[in-house]
Amino acid sequence: SLSILVASYFGPLRDNLETAIRLPVRALHVDLVRGRDELDDVLAALRGDMRLSVGLVDGRNVWRTDLQQASTLLEHVIDAIGGERVIVGPSCSLMHVPVDLELETALDPRIRPWLAFARQKLTEIVTLARLRLGADAQGETERAQNASALHDRRNSPLTHNAGVRRRAEAVQPTMVRRKSPYSQRRLVQRESLPLPLFPTTTIGSFPQTDEIRRDRAGYKRGELSEKQYHRRLRETMAKTIRFQEEIGLDVLVHGEAERNDMVEYFGEELAGFAVTANGWVQSYGSRCVKPPILYGDVSRKRPITVGWARRAMSCTSKPVKGMLTGPVTILCWSFVRDDQPRRETCRQIALAIRDEVQDLEAAGVRVIQIDEPAFREGLPLRHAQRTEYLRWAVECFRLASSGVSDATQIHTHMCYAEFHHILEAVAALDADVISIETARSNLELLAAFRECGYPNDIGPGVYDIHSPRIPSMQSIQLLLRKALQVLRPEQLWVNPDCGLKTRTWEEVRPALANMVAAARALREQATQKQTAR
Ligand code: GLN
Ligand code: ZN
Repeated sequence: SLSILVASYFGPLRDNLETAIRLPVRALHVDLVRGRDELDDVLAALRGDMRLSVGLVDGRNVWRTDLQQASTLLEHVIDAIGGERVIVGPSCSLMHVPVDLELETALDPRIRPWLAFARQKLTEIVTLARLRLGADAQGETERAQNASALHDRRNSPLTHNAGVRRRAEAVQPTMVRRKSPYSQRRLVQRESLPLPLFPTTTIGSFPQTDEIRRDRAGYKRGELSEKQYHRRLRETMAKTIRFQEEIGLDVLVHGEAERNDMVEYFGEELAGFAVTANGWVQSYGSRCVKPPILYGDVSRKRPITVGWARRAMSCTSKPVKGMLTGPVTILCWSFVRDDQPRRETCRQIALAIRDEVQDLEAAGVRVIQIDEPAFREGLPLRHAQRTEYLRWAVECFRLASSGVSDATQIHTHMCYAEFHHILEAVAALDADVISIETARSNLELLAAFRECGYPNDIGPGVYDIHSPRIPSMQSIQLLLRKALQVLRPEQLWVNPDCGLKTRTWEEVRPALANMVAAARALREQATQKQTAR
């Protein structure tokens, strides 16, 4: 006798609609934000003894609902099945959005009225029902405020930058292609960037210690001046570089101590983004992030990472890898505007990152990594939409990465993911080197890379940074040997499977030392074999 409601979301039901209707349940919830076009099919199919819960308020994004539009939809539903059978709700769980906009006292007051976090969304839901039941004074006030905020957002110069739009429209095919194919670039890079066989590197971040976090919090509270804060960061960076030199890594990084998060950091620096003070959402497990809010046309105000890269290079004679987050990942891990297609937004981000890539190159950085851990995650649920996504996602990465000479080595990084069915797209990114997670899947992925004939260099993660376990040199060597069963020796890089920011120095020091030792041992064996021949 339980009254069961089955909730579906993140898009229309399509070929599953019939199944959903046949379920022995009393009510069905549908996502009318992403599945609006399906509404009439749902209404026609709904059983007479079923109620319909309509998800009218976007649970996945932070924009204020268009109450006028939502009311019209609600009216349409009520006309079709009668008000007693209708439930009003958000499109999906509210766990994807921050809790309360009221807590955001520092947000730009021109942008704030466009937004609704979880608490505000609940008010919207109540207002929608209340307006329908017969308008009261409060409902009317909310309706009027809503209409004016939306009108404002639609016409605000803050969301439109003519220069950015012109530039995005003028993208030429030559801009999404490196000058020469990989086989040629490889030779040029060997000359300009001599590296040993099985080069060792890391994915970018080093431990974000309590000290770094305390300094950042102090800086944000105004207790530490910018000068003091930056001096601390520089000290951390110098120590990080020294450590990498000492243990003998081949391509160094500056350590990303200045970054709170790989996406939020760029959101803080780029035009078109706002950041929140308390807009936390769950990322995975107990980890949380504050996704920035992309509200307008995106461009770069000034170089972002170039200063850090320059300083890092001045601390060492070894090559230093410049570290950037890719356009697709910035898109996927932000709250993005819903008034234009995602591919257009992504292209603007790509152009901003392209500027940064070119400035890094001009500053003398010869290795640049553009992280795309969200590349796989951005894949639409529906197969039919995947090809289209992959087309523009690949194009955006290439737009960001192709503005450099053959001698500049582009790396990319992707975390743990099921890549098997998108390997062609991964190859189409045409990064000179890709680092991927393989430690947990026991290198199974590498076989797939070989089968698809992946031509460029690969750094299969040789140990799992999500675990506090310190990998032994033997275990890393074993993985590398396995990797060599499927990869050509010249193709193989040696690195952990992700950034080290969540680990402690006590874990990182021995782990990386073992990693370097494993690579060296393998190198020696390879040279011995060659001389023996
Ligand atoms: N460069 C980033 C880091 O090292 C990459 C993080 C990620 O892949 N999620 O932290
Ligand atoms: Zn990663």
